[in-house]
Amino acid sequence: MRRPLVMGNWKLNGSKAMVADLIKGLDAQLAGVEGVDVAIAPPVMYLDLAEQLLGKAESKILLGSQNVDVNASGAFTGDISPEMLKDFGATHIIIGHSERRDYHAESDEYVAKKFAFLKEHGLVPVLCIGESEAQNEAGETVAVCARQLDAVINTQGVEALNGAVIAYEPIWAIGTGKAATAEDAQRIHAEIRAHIAAKSEEVAKNVVIQYGGSVKPENAEAYFAQPDIDGALVGGAALNAESFAAIAKAA
Ligand code: PEP
Repeated sequence: MRRPLVMGNWKLNGSKAMVADLIKGLDAQLAGVEGVDVAIAPPVMYLDLAEQLLGKAESKILLGSQNVDVNASGAFTGDISPEMLKDFGATHIIIGHSERRDYHAESDEYVAKKFAFLKEHGLVPVLCIGESEAQNEAGETVAVCARQLDAVINTQGVEALNGAVIAYEPIWAIGTGKAATAEDAQRIHAEIRAHIAAKSEEVAKNVVIQYGGSVKPENAEAYFAQPDIDGALVGGAALNAESFAAIAKAA
């Protein structure tokens, strides 16, 4: 049985006060909620504070990060290594988010390198894949997702996906309020799982595939009712404790 993961990507948002408020609110709202893993990815600047607050509250919320570098140390200005993230209790690391692919020109190969580096350091890659609006309209969704996945599978073997998380995020649905329908998302998730199953049915059966793109309390239940959707990667709605907790409860 796959355990759903609901993860909040805070992006470039936050302050010390907001971190404290959100963690307090989430812990209160999520008390007694079982059967789902919940993770938050604040900006790295706030990992220390978040780790301290989660520890003090004996929280079950997992800590994550929004990015990682492909180098362990040295002259790489502005970058963060897996061991640094581990030092602050982060376990789930988002890689390949479309905002990084677009704004920082991160290629499939570069993202796959990050994937391997995280695995090497015992961290969980949350690998974002997904198509643009133009690719969607051209009927290229599955091919794009397959290409992004194959950058990992063809270099590291399909077993590299064991213990990792895939987040299917259609780019046109991110932060737009224009979410994919639950049925369309399910269809793509099934295709992604089938693509992996062609290499290993066992890996395909066990790998967590989240949906991401304008998930809200109002539409979360419909996604989680689908057999191939295992939780969500949440942006905007993760900045509100009540909304994010409602999504986690729906999973
Ligand atoms: C995201 O950035 O990963 C995301 C899914 O954002 P939103 O939920 O705001 O669409």
